[in-house]
Amino acid sequence: MSQAVLSDWKRCSEDDTAFLTEVRAFLGQALTSDLREAGRDTVGVHSELPACRAWHQRLFERGWIAPAWPVAYGGTGWTARQRMLFEHECAENDAPILFAGGIRTLGPLLIAIGTAAQRQRYLPAILDGRDLWCQGFSETGAGSDLAALQTRAACQGDHYMVSGAKIWTTGAHIATRMFCLVRTRHSPRPQDGITFLLIDMETPGIKVRPVISIAGEHEFNEVVFTDVRVPVENRVGEENEGWSAAKLLMKFARSNNTTSGLLRRVLRRLREFECLDSSNESRRRISELECKLRAFEGLELRILAQTSEITAVQSSMLKTLATELHQKIAAALFDVTAFAAGEPARRSASASDPPFAIRKYLATRAASIYSGTNETHRNLMARSLCN
Ligand SMILES: Cc1cc2nc3c(=O)[nH]c(=O)nc-3n(C[C@H](O)[C@H](O)[C@H](O)COP(=O)(O)OP(=O)(O)OC[C@H]3O[C@@H](n4cnc5c(N)ncnc54)[C@H](O)[C@@H]3O)c2cc1C
Repeated sequence: MSQAVLSDWKRCSEDDTAFLTEVRAFLGQALTSDLREAGRDTVGVHSELPACRAWHQRLFERGWIAPAWPVAYGGTGWTARQRMLFEHECAENDAPILFAGGIRTLGPLLIAIGTAAQRQRYLPAILDGRDLWCQGFSETGAGSDLAALQTRAACQGDHYMVSGAKIWTTGAHIATRMFCLVRTRHSPRPQDGITFLLIDMETPGIKVRPVISIAGEHEFNEVVFTDVRVPVENRVGEENEGWSAAKLLMKFARSNNTTSGLLRRVLRRLREFECLDSSNESRRRISELECKLRAFEGLELRILAQTSEITAVQSSMLKTLATELHQKIAAALFDVTAFAAGEPARRSASASDPPFAIRKYLATRAASIYSGTNETHRNLMARSLCN
């Protein structure tokens, strides 16, 4: 594939140029050096909390915190291409990576199927950053087989009584609220007895226990519920119909996000270090990663800009390709920096504050597990070929 075809997506029209000028002017003024530092040092799915909060606030004040939301609810009205250009400019300038479950998934879900009272209560606090939302879906026996979840909720008049435990809950220790799947009925088809609840993390009976990742980061947690009272008005959709709400939420997650900006960040770091290893093999490896990323960017834009809704198969394809590319870039960064630098860098892999490349490499291992493992996405793609 020629270089020209590969870089097509970034070829600017006059409209793009005006848009980019506006974005760059804003980033130049809003991204202070400490925010850039926090963004640059991020290895996991979000930057450290103070930087997340500060960056969220600045985007909110500019009216750019929720680009994919309908304009009536605070969206920007940008096209998919503009959203992607914006993401890439943020990546290029090391903007912090937001903790944005509320913006990316729950907000759009409430706009689509929440009650008027839920929209009124929750959307403003998602937009201005007062509420950070975590996702309580997975349990020890329910990951890929999510419908097997057992955290139970019994309806007792005006509230549900929730007991059970969630695991791998990203950001439960910093979130103010959780959107959660609970079992309200045992039925032959397990999907039919699941309900979608919104839970205030301050409610008595909730315990959050840290789980430390192999990268040494505290990003996710176990969350235990013991007789937690959740008002009935916090239910999204009908009782026992939470599976449909969860599927809709995943659809929003698929269509509102781009991932190529995240990959660009890591490739840029790799490029900064490529001089450490000038062997032909290393140069060939980096060029190949650059080609693959450009191809991925073209594919991502094409899918997000299509007029029809992004399908589950397309989403699985994007997730799997992005994950594998992410891991390959992180592995190349690790090899070029840690190993080209020699013994001291290698030894520091076990030190308490390992270098960025090592933390990044380790953190990226999780990418083929969260948001569905590569194997489950491949199953989904394979099934679609058989249909
Ligand atoms: C960093 C990180 C953050 C996360 N954040 C959250 C969060 O915020 N909220 C949340 O709810 N969850 C979260 N998760 C959980 C994540 O969604 C689950 O880990 C994931 O769905 C896999 O489930 P599991 O860990 O139970 O593995 P399992 O489902 O037990 O899978 C184990 C292995 O078996 C394979 N496997 C399973 N079934 C099949 C099959 N049918 N065919 C082929 N292979 C199969 C899997 O691919 C995997 O390799 C997070 C996970 C990670 C790693």
